[in-house]
Amino acid sequence: MDYIKRITILAIFSLFFMITTAISAHAKTGQTYEVNTDWLNIRNGPSNHAEIVGKLKKGNQVRIFGEISGWAQTYYNGEAVWIASNHLVPKQDKEVFLPDGLLTGYTIVIDPGHGGKDPGAIGHNGVLEKDLILVTSKKIAEQLTNSGATVILTRADDSFVPLNDRVAISNKSETDAFISIHFNAFPEDYVGGINTYYYQSGHSLAQHIQNALSQEVPLRNRGVIQSNYRVLRDNKSPAILVELGFITNTTELVTLQSESYQDKVARAITLGLIEYFWE
Ligand SMILES: [Zn+2]
Repeated sequence: MDYIKRITILAIFSLFFMITTAISAHAKTGQTYEVNTDWLNIRNGPSNHAEIVGKLKKGNQVRIFGEISGWAQTYYNGEAVWIASNHLVPKQDKEVFLPDGLLTGYTIVIDPGHGGKDPGAIGHNGVLEKDLILVTSKKIAEQLTNSGATVILTRADDSFVPLNDRVAISNKSETDAFISIHFNAFPEDYVGGINTYYYQSGHSLAQHIQNALSQEVPLRNRGVIQSNYRVLRDNKSPAILVELGFITNTTELVTLQSESYQDKVARAITLGLIEYFWE
């Protein structure tokens, strides 16, 4: 993509995710607005003479923290920035979530581990790793699709898929990232947390995903680890394997089974991929 488009998308992206809480005396603090003109400049001061630091397009949503004589204030890269407020319309009861389309043109393979005759690990109350993986993977796939990605699932039901087939599915497609989904297990109940494995080319991807997970998810950050898993080693694309918590940890399992946790994981993986592709 060309430079201007990249900067524009980065600006839009940053506005959505780098908005920080701020104190303002104005009544509109914290309210979300939608852009109703084709393009809207983001400036570093409340004036038409101030420097343009980014652009918003029609339909983008921003959270506004104050207003001075026709200029709405928000935050971008930790700095206060200004947008002409006559092109903003208030949005009620609508959550600011992920901007559409930032993953358009990218193909992501989501690999739900285990399945069929292979249950994976067995957690408390007989919870099977393969079942929790499938539910969580579908959440991830849905969020990635909503962000414009083409998503390929190596299994979409409880079927057994050999490791070689999982790699082949990835290698025969123009895969931009391969993410294998797993949950962890350990004989001792107290062990918990999330970690991400990579073999070689997935190192940067692993760092971005683990970083995003550690920010979005309330579990211990066990870091990024190099490993020789076949789905990573034989993969032509940047490939990682995420362990999204321990199903053998009684309290952690309750979290892992909650829809809100699965939504956070889906959001984190989407954010991590956006950051990885747009770095
Ligand atoms: Zn597993």
